[in-house]
Amino acid sequence: MSKVALYHCDTVDQIPQRLQAIVESLGAERVSALFQGKKVLLKPNVCIDHPPEKGATTHPAVLDAVIRLAADLDAGTIIVGDGAAVGVKGRIFERTGIQAVCEKHGVELRDFNRAQGRRVQLDDALALKEATIAETYFEVDTVVNLPVFKTNMLFWISGALKNMKGLLVGMEKHKPHYLGVPQCVADLNRMVRQDLVIMDGIVGMMGDGPAAGEPANARLLIGGFDPVAVDEVAARLMGFNPARIPMLRLAEKVGVGSSRCEVLGDPISSFKLRLEKPTVAKNRLMGVLFDLGGRFFFRKVGEASRMVIDAEKCTLCGRCQTMCPFGAITIADKMVSVDMHKCEFCLCCTEVCKTEAIHLEGLLVRKESFLRG
Ligand code: SF4
Ligand code: SF4
Repeated sequence: MSKVALYHCDTVDQIPQRLQAIVESLGAERVSALFQGKKVLLKPNVCIDHPPEKGATTHPAVLDAVIRLAADLDAGTIIVGDGAAVGVKGRIFERTGIQAVCEKHGVELRDFNRAQGRRVQLDDALALKEATIAETYFEVDTVVNLPVFKTNMLFWISGALKNMKGLLVGMEKHKPHYLGVPQCVADLNRMVRQDLVIMDGIVGMMGDGPAAGEPANARLLIGGFDPVAVDEVAARLMGFNPARIPMLRLAEKVGVGSSRCEVLGDPISSFKLRLEKPTVAKNRLMGVLFDLGGRFFFRKVGEASRMVIDAEKCTLCGRCQTMCPFGAITIADKMVSVDMHKCEFCLCCTEVCKTEAIHLEGLLVRKESFLRG
């Protein structure tokens, strides 16, 4: 049976003390072994450039406390990394407050949407047979997942399991939306492990998360080693029956974790959360229809999208070619071309092009709000 530690946390000042309580509940020795002398990746949720008070992203105060904990436990190297959702660009780490925390502690911050990736295959996958995972994942000894306590418009919950989508490089994050999010999240969590989960419910999100909901002000922290068990407890706190959540059940079925858990700390019954429900909970039929129709829609979107060069604006400077992590861009005969078989839609080229000569064309640009997750 998996242990899950749950604590009220009414103010940001209480976070370090509650974090310590989580460590002790889970077993200080086991937690310590994950950090001591290890290269540690802290994986917050930085899916969108909302400020912390919106509750869509990991609260900087939680990241701050976890970095301090890692340092206290003699972590060898600490890296913070995530990649925002498809279509979200700009100063995301700055706006979410994540960058300031990293700078304060002198911790390296990596944007996985600009990262090198490694191809991973899963022959017996439910849906995600291969994926490009950020290379950082393979460099580290320990992965500490810092998801946010959020309800999700279509998939009930955005928690520990789904937060691992941030390890998918660039447009790879788009894939689950047309292959099936619950199936792909289960597959992804077989490709990548998480050693410790600290779920941030300081603010959190209710209603139509993961980005368009309202602040939940849940004021809680959840910790555990098993992402299925942590999400199970989060779902119960949200007022859902976890047995009805496909993502959790599929993840359990393929062996990612177990829903059988012992809750330590504050009892679930002591939390009187009144959360606005997501669409899927308000209208189950609509959720099912969107899931079926959505897969078709996203598949078509994926097929229709491509990188396009405006030859009149292009100065042939070569920056896009240098930047492309997947070697998809070539310049020959005074022309830039993109091999769409290699392109992973990371959009790094669009970021470096000074003349805005290269851009993504297709429905993705206009429908990007559907892709946040
Ligand atoms: S970065 Fe822009 S201007 Fe430079 S070669 Fe690429 S498309 Fe052309
Ligand atoms: S062509 Fe552009 S969007 Fe495609 S992989 Fe290269 S840098 Fe990324």
